[in-house]
Order: sequence, then C-alpha cells, then structure tokens
Amino acid sequence: MGRSVGQPAGRYGMAVRPWWYGGLRPLRVLPLLLAALILTACETVPITGRQQLILMPEAQAEQIGVQAFQQIKARQPIVRDRPEARMVAEIGQRVVAASGLTGYGWEFVLFQDASPNAFALPGGKIGVNTGLFRVARTENQVAAVIAHEVAHVLARHSAERMSRQMLVELGLGGLAAATGPGYAGMADIAAQAATLGLLLPFTRDQEAEADHIGLLLMARAGYDPRAAIDLWRNMGAVAGAGRPPEFLSTHPSAANRIARLEALMPEALAIYDAQHQ
Ligand SMILES: [Zn+2]
Repeated sequence: MGRSVGQPAGRYGMAVRPWWYGGLRPLRVLPLLLAALILTACETVPITGRQQLILMPEAQAEQIGVQAFQQIKARQPIVRDRPEARMVAEIGQRVVAASGLTGYGWEFVLFQDASPNAFALPGGKIGVNTGLFRVARTENQVAAVIAHEVAHVLARHSAERMSRQMLVELGLGGLAAATGPGYAGMADIAAQAATLGLLLPFTRDQEAEADHIGLLLMARAGYDPRAAIDLWRNMGAVAGAGRPPEFLSTHPSAANRIARLEALMPEALAIYDAQHQ
C-alpha cells in the first residue's frame, strides 16, 4: 500500500495549513489573541463611566439586533391602533431625543402579550408587551420602563453580553476547535456565541446600570423620575405570578432596586426640575 492511500495527508495533515499558520501552535497563539482582543476592546459606558468589554463592531451587534427583531415581529401579533401603542411610540421618541442617541433606526413596538414585560435589542429595537400596562399604570411609569430599555441600548449591554459569551466559547470550545480543523472554525464559534449571548438575560450589574441611566434619561425627557419607584412597587406585587418580567429576572428583590433608585433620586429630580423652569 502506498502512503498516499493510507494517509490522506493532503486533506487532514500539515500540508493544508494556511501560509500564515507557520510553526505556531494554536494552543500558544489563542491566549495571546484573546489578551490582545481584551486590551483593545475596552469601552466606557456613558453616564456611569463603567469600563466594559466589547469584542464586536457596533454595526455587527446592530445587524444581529435588527434581524432578531424582524423575527419577533413576524411571529408576535403587533398592536397599532390603540392609545397605548401611540403612547409607547411618543415616549420612545422623547426618551431617544433626551439620550442624544438619534443615529439608530429606533423602533418602539407594542406586542399583544399578557406578560408584563419589555425588551431591548441592539440597533434601537424596543418591544413592549400589552401586559405591561397592568403594572405601569401612568404615562410616567411607562416612561420609566421605556427609559430603562433605551438605557440597555445606550450602554450596549447586548454587545457586552454577546462578547462575554464569545470569550467563554473561544476560551473553552475554541481551544478544542483550534487543535482540530484550525482557525477556520473560530469565526463560526464567535457567531454562534454572539447569537446565544443575545438570548441570555442581562446580568444583575447591567440591570442596575439600566435602572441608573434610565432614571436620569426619563428625567431629562421631562418625565417624573419618582414614577420609577411606583413602577417597581407595582412590579414587586405581580412578581411571583408566572414567568418574572425581564426587569426582575436577575434581581433578588424589588426592594434593593427601590433603595438604589432612592439614592439616585436627588440627582434625577434636579434634572427633572430643570426641565420645568
Ligand atoms: Zn433590563
């Protein structure tokens, strides 16, 4: 038997390594690559000034968000001809104007869904469920929810979540993949991780940050920030019945949330009062 038959070196052996592969072993290169990514990928969150890790261009996160929103709109009934839908759109535009982040293709859509929830996707895509109006009982309370969601977009929380997931996948699965077919698999791993990251809930720190930024945003848009506390009281009352809303899913209690909001209230009220002078 000849060598060419027994060992298909041209397909699986070293002969097919790309020119840039050189003599470096993936196991040595990958940690260096990750370290370089981390060092160059630190961003600063507006308003809170927190340092965050973002491993993807804004345009890529935006594209993932826009596609996900299209899929949701295709399968979930949309409410257009009710006063609540107009209220959501109007509050959305005011909060966006206050955020200064007018470059996105912002959309504020009311979905027919009984659960008291709302969500934010990269690219300025915000969804609000009709069930939210069971707990957000005034315009100011609805504004608290929408400002919280706009804050998630402003702080690029989805891209941060996706980036963390990419690191996990590249650090664990990536090492295994790099010893097999080579680096060609890493782009796929990153793409899959990004999609998975979008589906995961925001972290507790991100929720607290969205509360913080959202409170100041709603005040800047001319909505009474004290309504945020009323909203979380209402939320606390309905929590426990069925699946928890997005806002509560990573929090131990509405009480902690209210305590933090109260600490920020003097700053928020100063902004709010300045709008009415
Ligand atoms: Zn949230």
